[in-house]
Amino acid sequence: MPLRPPLVAFHPAAPRPPQRRRVYCPSCRHGFDISRRAVTVRCPRCTHPLAFDDLRLDGQVQGDVTTMGHVELGDTASVRGRLTCGALTTAGRLDGDTVVYGTLALLDTAKTHGRLTARALDAQPGTQCEAYVRITPDPGPPPTPRPPTRTLEKMQPADKPPPRHGLPRVVPKV
Ligand SMILES: [Zn+2]
Repeated sequence: MPLRPPLVAFHPAAPRPPQRRRVYCPSCRHGFDISRRAVTVRCPRCTHPLAFDDLRLDGQVQGDVTTMGHVELGDTASVRGRLTCGALTTAGRLDGDTVVYGTLALLDTAKTHGRLTARALDAQPGTQCEAYVRITPDPGPPPTPRPPTRTLEKMQPADKPPPRHGLPRVVPKV
């Protein structure tokens, strides 16, 4: 019996449009779309280099975390420190200074303290949030270490008295 050609032809899958995601530059606040797979990219406006590592954190985490990617805190996560990210979904404990350039999602098991700044907030019933919360289209620059308040006085020559009027202006580092 001769071999019959298969009735169903297998075509290669049509190319799908690359998945994009909207990200924001913390330096100049420009919003732009990148491929979902991109890990590092330069801001098209100010050329600031940005890293987009997606992270999942579980267990005890102490210290600073900075990525423009999506950070997920599992329900066993307990994070203390400065967290700066492109988007955050938390089911765990978070205490510190948090800046989210996209959406902050508080799941029902999340317990959140500290200071939160985000572009958008999505809070599920059951979540506990006892934080100073700021929702704004412009979350501003990432939190920097507390600037030394005495720098200007220290820079004065010893024989010059410190300025008597006005407070020293602290210019945040960009
Ligand atoms: Zn920029």
